[in-house]
Amino acid sequence: MKFRAVTGMNDILPEEARGYQFVEAQFRAAVEAYGFRELRTPIVEELGLFHKSTGETSEVVQKQMFLLAKEGESLALRPEGTPSSARVYIGNKMHGREPITKWFYIGPMFRAERPQRGRYRQFHQAGCELYGDEGPICDAEMIDMLYRFASKLGLSDVKVLLNTLGGPEARVAYRKRLVDYFTPLSDQISEHARERLVDNPLRILDSKDPRDQEASKNAPVLLDCLTDADLAHWEGLKAALDRLGTPYEVDPRLVRGLDYYTRTCFEVVTTSGNIGSQSAVLGGGRYDGMLSSLGGQPTPAIGFAMGIERILLALGDRKYEEPSLCFIAPLGEAAGLPCLELATQLRAAGIWTELDSRGNSLKSMLRRADNMGASVCLVMGEDEAKSGVVQFKNLGKHTQEQIPQSDAVKAVQQALAETTTITGQEPASTSGSQT
Ligand code: AMP
Repeated sequence: MKFRAVTGMNDILPEEARGYQFVEAQFRAAVEAYGFRELRTPIVEELGLFHKSTGETSEVVQKQMFLLAKEGESLALRPEGTPSSARVYIGNKMHGREPITKWFYIGPMFRAERPQRGRYRQFHQAGCELYGDEGPICDAEMIDMLYRFASKLGLSDVKVLLNTLGGPEARVAYRKRLVDYFTPLSDQISEHARERLVDNPLRILDSKDPRDQEASKNAPVLLDCLTDADLAHWEGLKAALDRLGTPYEVDPRLVRGLDYYTRTCFEVVTTSGNIGSQSAVLGGGRYDGMLSSLGGQPTPAIGFAMGIERILLALGDRKYEEPSLCFIAPLGEAAGLPCLELATQLRAAGIWTELDSRGNSLKSMLRRADNMGASVCLVMGEDEAKSGVVQFKNLGKHTQEQIPQSDAVKAVQQALAETTTITGQEPASTSGSQT
């Protein structure tokens, strides 16, 4: 019997993992420069947490939760990172410990969706959460950070879509306006939209159904329902982005799929690489009501989550080069131990080293060195082993010379320093994602 990975949950093979490592390393470097520190939480939470925060009317909670039944417990695989982070913030009484808390996370998320390109049932998100600052400058700073991040990664055609969803007061007023607007059209909209009309009419606006899109064309816009305070926040955000020169496009139909957003919401979209038609690589917004609704102190909050798989699609068929490697080819039994010793010395000096101790022919070892992309190959036969020397092959320059074994580490270091990688990765510092 052959087992396969569960549909929509992908194995990430080593050559693909390089891409993840690259994006994660870039992400870490970008957000740490803004003072975000890493938070790691379990991938399983109580189901109730997501009902209370992600929201009863969100598609994610209604249809996409992976549930784990355990006697007396109702658990779920996390579909997103924000609720866990809010739970940790409240549980650790962060409100009383520091005025502003900035966290980031990287890890797998789970949603039981219909898998398609760029949409999986296990995927990876990297995100940030910021607690304790309600002002629009903080929103602008985060959005600008993301625009810069996406541009620095080399994505082309990056767009920031921006909207405000207002505070609770505006939402109540807007909801009523939407119900008044859509009710007479209820036989022209989808079944799904008719259900949303009852529990969350805002969601009709981002329906993909052509009937709903048509019916939404003349729908009232939320901007007309904003309170003075909402409006001041919205204007403040745009002014701050204008000051930074961050390009954005106001999209009054951007409502996002999670229930908790208040005021600012945004997405970064691109058509770059293999992503196809315009897709969101990340989305986020303010959620000033979540902490108190989960039993914490009222605390303003803003965050975003970026889909790592989407970023990789947007980066296209980019090749993530392996760091430089030194290959050691011992020929004959007498070369085995000196080569083992040499490999250990090279690794101790921080050099990635592959020792092929199978006792194969030189030809097959050189082929393997080539396949692995080695930059240098050290070949040692029985004679060399006895006389304390080694053949030093520079595979890039196609040169070969005999050197004393005691000079090997220095010679390899020198040769590798001359080779460059396109990613500029440091070999050991790009460790994998949290699982
Ligand atoms: P959300 O958590 O729904 O706000 O989504 C934030 C980002 O996560 C999106 O912009 C996507 O890049 C990514 N994302 C969401 N759902 C999936 C999924 N099922 N598969 C892959 N990426 C996803």
